[in-house]
Amino acid sequence: MDKIVLASGNQGKLNEFAHLFERYDISIVPQGSLGVEDVPETGTTFVENAIIKARHAAKVTGLPALSDDSGLVVAALGGAPGIYSSRYSESALGADDATDEGNIDKLLNALKATPEDKRDAYFICVLVFMRHADDPTPIICQGRWHGEIATQRAGEQGFGYDPVFYCSTLNKHAAQCQKSEKSTVSHRAKALELLVAEMESLIG
Ligand code: IMP
Repeated sequence: MDKIVLASGNQGKLNEFAHLFERYDISIVPQGSLGVEDVPETGTTFVENAIIKARHAAKVTGLPALSDDSGLVVAALGGAPGIYSSRYSESALGADDATDEGNIDKLLNALKATPEDKRDAYFICVLVFMRHADDPTPIICQGRWHGEIATQRAGEQGFGYDPVFYCSTLNKHAAQCQKSEKSTVSHRAKALELLVAEMESLIG
């Protein structure tokens, strides 16, 4: 195996994965460069959506595929925004007009009446590796980062919900963490670590 297709067009994720697999002489190729279009994420869980994306990329390219699906889960909101994290503030289904700012405003509003000790939340990242499109035993790894939703924004780093995600271990908001600090605790880092351990036997 010398090439894996990444079922994402996100440059940040591509850099992260490319860096990780460099030491194994495996190149990570974004699906867009191979003519793979985004597939509708029709699942109701992170795992389902990650599998849908990896299977689609593997099917179209004939290459092993890696996908990731992540989001924010808030207990007081029954798990919302969940799989809808990136489009939480969309004005209509498929309108594609959600922004990080709008998502945070909607989240803070939804939690307006929720007391401070009931604002537990976590980021989750699910990574799926499929050897081929019909792989019956995909490698599935999950990482979580536990914290609380603050009542106000703080910090300039990161993206998404980082300004309102407070991590008590670090005693700061995710958006107040440098990249290197976030990568020691984040859901994505934890899932990646598990994935590499699982894949060692395949690529090591
Ligand atoms: P996706 O995995 O790129 O689809 O990300 C889903 C959404 O979850 C993002 O658009 C963000 O809103 C949110 N999200 C995922 N990971 C993070 C993170 O590390 N910080 C802040 N928001 C995140």
